[in-house]
Amino acid sequence: MSSPYTSFRKGQRESIEFIRSRLGSLVAFKAPTGYGKTLVALLSHLGRGRVLYAVRTRNEMAPVVREARRIGASFTVVFSGRRMCPILRGAEVEAEDFWLNCRLVRLKGMCPYYANLRSTLLREVEELLARSTLTDPHRLAEAVTRELSVCPFFSLAGLASRVDVTVVTYPYVFDDVVYSTAFQDIGLDEFYLVVDEAHTLLNPQSVISSSIDLAHVRESRRELAGAGYADLSESLRPLEEALSRVASDRLVRVRREEAGITPDTDRALEEALYEVRLASLEALAGLGAEYLVKLTSPLSKLVKFYSLALEEFAGVYAQATYDSAELHALPISYEPIRRRLRQVRGVLLMSGTLPPKPILDKVVSAESTYLDVEESYGRVFPRERVFYAVYAKLTTSYAYRSTRMFM
Ligand code: SF4
Repeated sequence: MSSPYTSFRKGQRESIEFIRSRLGSLVAFKAPTGYGKTLVALLSHLGRGRVLYAVRTRNEMAPVVREARRIGASFTVVFSGRRMCPILRGAEVEAEDFWLNCRLVRLKGMCPYYANLRSTLLREVEELLARSTLTDPHRLAEAVTRELSVCPFFSLAGLASRVDVTVVTYPYVFDDVVYSTAFQDIGLDEFYLVVDEAHTLLNPQSVISSSIDLAHVRESRRELAGAGYADLSESLRPLEEALSRVASDRLVRVRREEAGITPDTDRALEEALYEVRLASLEALAGLGAEYLVKLTSPLSKLVKFYSLALEEFAGVYAQATYDSAELHALPISYEPIRRRLRQVRGVLLMSGTLPPKPILDKVVSAESTYLDVEESYGRVFPRERVFYAVYAKLTTSYAYRSTRMFM
């Protein structure tokens, strides 16, 4: 077994053998922060098939890239298309708007970086990643644009079928639409899945959710009426009324039918959004792709909300805010997580704070093989080498993290 380090840490070699001998099943791996779980995960899969390595935020991708390089594994990185896009250049546009704009700009042949993909070999992108010393995924994406003038998102995603490890943020595993936007030619069943910080899966609402507020619905209705969709605008009235009635600042369950959230409205909204955006794009085509990728509409968020709200595993909840009211579509079961875990070749769930096996097995609805490093091989960090620091006013809440860290 090759390792970039002179020796393994206590239990690392055994953990690699343990996981390697169970590839294809569901393995839970608990080890403290700083143990080297990434190295264990990568070495246990090396040479056995493609790995989709999911991390929560973009910032957590760099250590995986670093380890992949050290052990000689080929890799690619895929995170937010919005943040990677050299045309958008970091401008603040909602993800839903951006993806629709990107799709239309591509269809109309207006994106030069996408057009260049045709004449650029993916091998060149792969070689660039292999010879680069960069680990920050954003800087890697910039290097792809700078040196090859191709769309970094689609070229890096295109490498997934060629490399050992594809490092992604959670939505590229757990959101069907996001996954299929990136990986059109490769099914989930071709990957072994590694999920970092897998305790997060206990709270599926932190992985999958969509929200709209009253102002959003009103603006959407105005936009629809102005674009000649008066009936559709009218069909959103129950939604507006449901939001206007919200008084509690606690989450209150709302029946979909009561708020007019129906599959028919969903389909009609999706079509209207597409038509309205296409018309804007054609009318403004002369302004160039730089302008077109920034087009926005309140309708895009509404469409995303409807499609999640109508999922069987989701519930709709209302909540009053200090100056308005919001509706949230949230998963009320673990089904979207379980579904994805069932689709891959094998699963490795890792965390320093994994729940005990009986709880984890219930969450994933499957029998895991559970390896707790400290239980099996003894304390990793001896007490005398552990330091405690006490901070006040720190938070790990997602609400306080920069939006640039996500997707
Ligand atoms: S295809 Fe074009 S618009 Fe879409 S992400 Fe790539 S560079 Fe940006």
